[in-house]
Amino acid sequence: MVKERKLIIAGNWKMNKTVAEALDLVNGLKRELAAVKEVDIVVCPPFTALSEVSKVVLDSNIRLGAQDMSQHIGGAYTGEIAAGMLKEFSVRYVILGHSERRQFNGETDALVATKAAAALGASLKPIICVGELLHQRESGQTEAVIEAQLEGSLKGLTKGQLEESIIAYEPVWAIGTGKVATPQQAQEVHAYIRRRLAIMFDESTARHVRIQYGGSVKSSNARELMSQPDVDGALVGGASLEVRGFSDIVKNSI
Ligand code: PEP
Repeated sequence: MVKERKLIIAGNWKMNKTVAEALDLVNGLKRELAAVKEVDIVVCPPFTALSEVSKVVLDSNIRLGAQDMSQHIGGAYTGEIAAGMLKEFSVRYVILGHSERRQFNGETDALVATKAAAALGASLKPIICVGELLHQRESGQTEAVIEAQLEGSLKGLTKGQLEESIIAYEPVWAIGTGKVATPQQAQEVHAYIRRRLAIMFDESTARHVRIQYGGSVKSSNARELMSQPDVDGALVGGASLEVRGFSDIVKNSI
C-alpha cells in the first residue's frame, strides 16, 4: 500500500543506555538502515547521550529526538532542559506528554500544550502522546479520553503548527506490556483522532498530520499495524533498544 503521508518510526530509549551503549546502538542502526529512504527514522536517546549520538547521525538518514523538554526558554528551573539547548545537538523532534510523564511527573494536557508551543517556537517537531488506560477502554471511554487529551494538549496551536506536529496514539495498557492493540483497534482510534483534528482544525490539515501508533510494536506486528490507512508510523520503546529489533521494525514498515 502506498501511503499518502511518509511513515515516521521513532525509538524512545527512555532511561536506558550509557553514552558508550548509545553509541553502539546508533552505529549499528546507521549501518543497518543506511539504504532506507521511505521512512523518517528518529532515535530519542536520554539527554546525556544526545551530544555524542548527534555526531554519529550527522551524515546519516537518522534524525534525533529528545524525550521531553521544558516549557520555559531558560532561567531558574533546576534540572530542566530548554528547547534551545536541544537545538545545540541538532535535535529535530521531541516527545511530549508521554504516559510515563503524565503518570510519574503529573504532566497535564495544559502543560503539554505549553510545551508543544515552546517546541514549535524553536522549530522542533513535537510528538504529542495521547492514549487511554485499560479501565477507560473497558468502560467504553476511549473516544472521550482521546478527545479531551487532544483538545487540551493541542490548545492554542495554529493549523500550520499542527501540520508540523505528530500525534502518537499510545494506549497505556499496551506500553511495555507486550499487549499490542490489534491493527483494527489502532486504525479505529487513529481514524477517530483524524476526524477530531478535522473538527478542531480542518480536513486538509487533519489529512496531513502524521499519527503514530505506540505500544508493544515489534518486528512481527509492525507490517500489519503500519499498513492501516490512518497509521503513519510507530513510536517504539522496548524494541528500539537493540539494533535488530528496531531495524527490522523499520524495514518491515516499508
Ligand atoms: C513507549 O514507551 O512509548 C512505548 C511504546 O513502549 P513499548 O514499545 O515498549 O511498548
